[in-house]
Amino acid sequence: MSGAIVGAGDLLTFLDGCPTAAWAVRRVTEVLNERGFRRVSENSVWDIEPGERFYVVRSGSSIIAGIAGMGKPAVEGFRIVGAHTDFPGFRVKPDSERIREGLTTLGVEVYGSPILATWFDRDLTFAGTLIEKNGDTLSRRLFVLDQALCRISTPAIHLNKGMNEAFKINPEDHTPLILSSSGPAFDAVLEMACESAGIVRDSVAGWSIEVWDPQPASLSGIDGEFICSGRIDNLAMCHASVEALLHQEAAPHTALIALFNSEEVGSATVNGAASTFLPSILERMSGGREEYFRAVSNSLFVSADGAHAVHPNFAGKHDPSCRPIINGGPVLKINAKERYASSDISSAYIQSCADSAGVTLQRFVSRNDMPCGSTIGSITAARTGLSGVDVGSPMLSMHSVREMAGTRDHSAMISLLETHLRNQGQR
Ligand SMILES: [Zn+2]
Repeated sequence: MSGAIVGAGDLLTFLDGCPTAAWAVRRVTEVLNERGFRRVSENSVWDIEPGERFYVVRSGSSIIAGIAGMGKPAVEGFRIVGAHTDFPGFRVKPDSERIREGLTTLGVEVYGSPILATWFDRDLTFAGTLIEKNGDTLSRRLFVLDQALCRISTPAIHLNKGMNEAFKINPEDHTPLILSSSGPAFDAVLEMACESAGIVRDSVAGWSIEVWDPQPASLSGIDGEFICSGRIDNLAMCHASVEALLHQEAAPHTALIALFNSEEVGSATVNGAASTFLPSILERMSGGREEYFRAVSNSLFVSADGAHAVHPNFAGKHDPSCRPIINGGPVLKINAKERYASSDISSAYIQSCADSAGVTLQRFVSRNDMPCGSTIGSITAARTGLSGVDVGSPMLSMHSVREMAGTRDHSAMISLLETHLRNQGQR
């Protein structure tokens, strides 16, 4: 993740390297370490110097990184980009291995709102976290397996004649993973996970195992203009945020990116957008409670998350006029019910950033008979008092196991976020 013009290849590598939110944070820290950012712990004395590059990780799956301003935050404020590290999928249930009809199955819990049907008949595998016990110390160890190990199978059409008209999926009964035809197999999965994490089996005191599709991200379309992959929502915006930050120099104001876990389940977790993570970092950087309130009122938050591109085969799902197209540029999201943070003035602000970046900005507004999704923008605004605006790259198949976005939109989004993080004048 470096260089002024980011090739799509770099995004593809990032998507492939992040099977879970914790892996996304690991990948981001690897890049930040290479680029001279210092890791700061929440439990240590706050000692960040003006101009310093730093990052803070909470609970292994959310990260805030930035370049401290040369001036005081109370006067110069913060420019912040937010995105989320998590994505919909499945997590293995504890004690859920069963042998039924000669096959070993493993129960899963649904995380967020995946398009369930897209996960059927794929070559799936596992990634996640093992908890290593070393004396009295417990620590997280990440693992990733990339060989196909399990599958959620459809029944044959002959046994389910109407399935092309209505394949109604029961998320409990129809999703257990088929893992083996030769008896218990979950222990073998744990062995492989230990090997991947580089720890011994006896030291495992707990685990969190997710299901992922290891098919590599690809470019598609006649000119390679589409990116097809799992996890585009919202790892593409995490990638764009990091790129935008890496292109910054120390400035009077502080530039920050905040990549939160838990957006797909409502953000109210220890390290989600509704947590104390961002406000506590802002307060500590501001140097006191009074300075923090002044800093917040001088700051702007851009929330970057996938946006709904108009689909030629389902064109009626969009507003008659606001119809963002793939590779038509980043999307400004507007909603009268305030599901997005965008306001009259923050929308004008991001339009001016787009103008200075030479980027075309598209607009999204929902049909009145169709609710829009929510994201971290309005949650952050309510939690912190930061003025915000919601943007995102247009995409199709959001929450499918294999989503689709545009290569040109990705570089335009990086330019837009970069311009925002650099912006000193407007508030
Ligand atoms: Zn999202």
